[in-house]
Amino acid sequence: SQLPADPITDNSRRQVTKACYSFVTPKQTGKPELVNVSPEMLDTLGLSENDAKTKQFLNVFTGNTVLEGTTPYAMCYGGHQFGHWAGQLGDGRAINLFEVQHNNQNWKLQLKGAGETPYSRTADGLAVLRSSVREYLCSEAMYHLGVPTTRALSLALSGDPVLRDVMYNGNPAYEKGAIVTRVSPSFLRFGSYEIHASRNDLSTLKTLVDYTINSHFSHLVTVNTKAEINKQTYVQFLNDVAMRSLDMVIHWQRVGFVHGVMNTDNLSILGLTIDYGPYGWLEGYEPGWTPNTTDRQNKRYQFGTQPDIVLWNLYQLANALYPLIEEAEGLEAVLANYAEQKDIKYLQMMRSKIGLSSEEQLDANLIQELEDCLQLTETDMTIFFRNLSDFDGANPTNGLQIIRESFYDIESVTEAIKDRWNLWFDSYADRLQRESISAKAKKENMNSVNPKYVLRNYMAQLAIDDANKGDYKLIDDLFNLLKQPYAEQTKHEKWFAKRPEWARHKVGCSM
Ligand code: AMP
Ligand code: MG
Ligand code: MG
Repeated sequence: SQLPADPITDNSRRQVTKACYSFVTPKQTGKPELVNVSPEMLDTLGLSENDAKTKQFLNVFTGNTVLEGTTPYAMCYGGHQFGHWAGQLGDGRAINLFEVQHNNQNWKLQLKGAGETPYSRTADGLAVLRSSVREYLCSEAMYHLGVPTTRALSLALSGDPVLRDVMYNGNPAYEKGAIVTRVSPSFLRFGSYEIHASRNDLSTLKTLVDYTINSHFSHLVTVNTKAEINKQTYVQFLNDVAMRSLDMVIHWQRVGFVHGVMNTDNLSILGLTIDYGPYGWLEGYEPGWTPNTTDRQNKRYQFGTQPDIVLWNLYQLANALYPLIEEAEGLEAVLANYAEQKDIKYLQMMRSKIGLSSEEQLDANLIQELEDCLQLTETDMTIFFRNLSDFDGANPTNGLQIIRESFYDIESVTEAIKDRWNLWFDSYADRLQRESISAKAKKENMNSVNPKYVLRNYMAQLAIDDANKGDYKLIDDLFNLLKQPYAEQTKHEKWFAKRPEWARHKVGCSM
């Protein structure tokens, strides 16, 4: 038997049918306390730093006060998790508060960790400080890296203990509860559409797809002379989603970001990075690396194949849209185009990382050999590409010297490895000879795509360890550092360093 889902203000767990969301009430918190607020996001929303100091701000963004005239809701979605259809998932611990219209932009604001919703299944709807710090710092860092992403307005403590199934000495472990306010033009995901298709609820599916097109892809409607949504519009919609998702994932490959849980419920319809769970950053350049400890066997969500996984997810979205179109041809063409563009865009991006402004047929070989060399011995991706900008080709023999700092264990760089690198630097120098831009311009270009500072896994961990002891200074320091990831910040040189040995293989956890 199914309970009516909408509209009721009832957080009880259930299957929600014929609806895209359910009204819910955030949980009251014991002793809320703000840990950090993003000044950029305040500004973007038309709020001031003084607004952020008010009791009302604290209460609203921890769920204690629901603003008059607003109706918080949790969204219904499904998803393919690790390749398998998982049925209804939904906002199990996210509650949308309201939207803000500012500077011609529409933003949805949502609390993550504000208690149960109909979609919480067997979990508690809460978040711990550890995972919240990771989401807060990383989403803003990604924004400043130029990667499409959802944003974060604030990080707060709920003041309530949260029980996680992490066992220390066999005892259940309580952790500090926290709430992040996430901000995005939309939190719709591929799974938001899949759920209705899976239930053969084509009416709700069409309502949601048309809403999405009208709200976020309106250019597809207005270019049509008849100004209406038709089957062709749905195909173009998929194509837009595909190209946005491709843009996003190519940025991930550029900066060395590994998402970790690219299930279809975690892929935004707007091509924004969403759900900062067990994500991680490449340290050693290792295409097979995944930060997700539950995925170490299959490595489905490893770094190197992220663009292919986006394609797999697009197939699922195409399947969900199919009933509205009932013709495979157009959808298949979109997917084929993605597959082709994926390689083209990847090559363009890698060219930019090594400072090539022109295109030559053999660049793909040069880049492939570089990627092979990077895996000969553990070599830090961020430091390698940043330092490579010092190589101008005039003196090919100093290549190894320039990248030396990026090797984790200099002893492991054998004569054979050195020979291979030297050969690569010879070809690279040769290729640079045929570039027409100056060495100075090349260096600047490279430094604008190869970040100097990223949120290395151990950096977030240090901030979390301090935060658990009540010291939030490092959160603020890292937040500020990562606002200018491409700049030389000499006083922060200590963060331009390889991961310390103690932090090897340590990654955060999503829950
Ligand atoms: P994720 O793996 O983070 O994408 O989560 C998958 C599903 O589990 C989503 O529906 C989440 O909302 C839900 N979920 C994750 N953590 C919790 C939690 N602590 N309480 C309730 N639902 C959760
Ligand atoms: Mg998720
Ligand atoms: Mg998550």
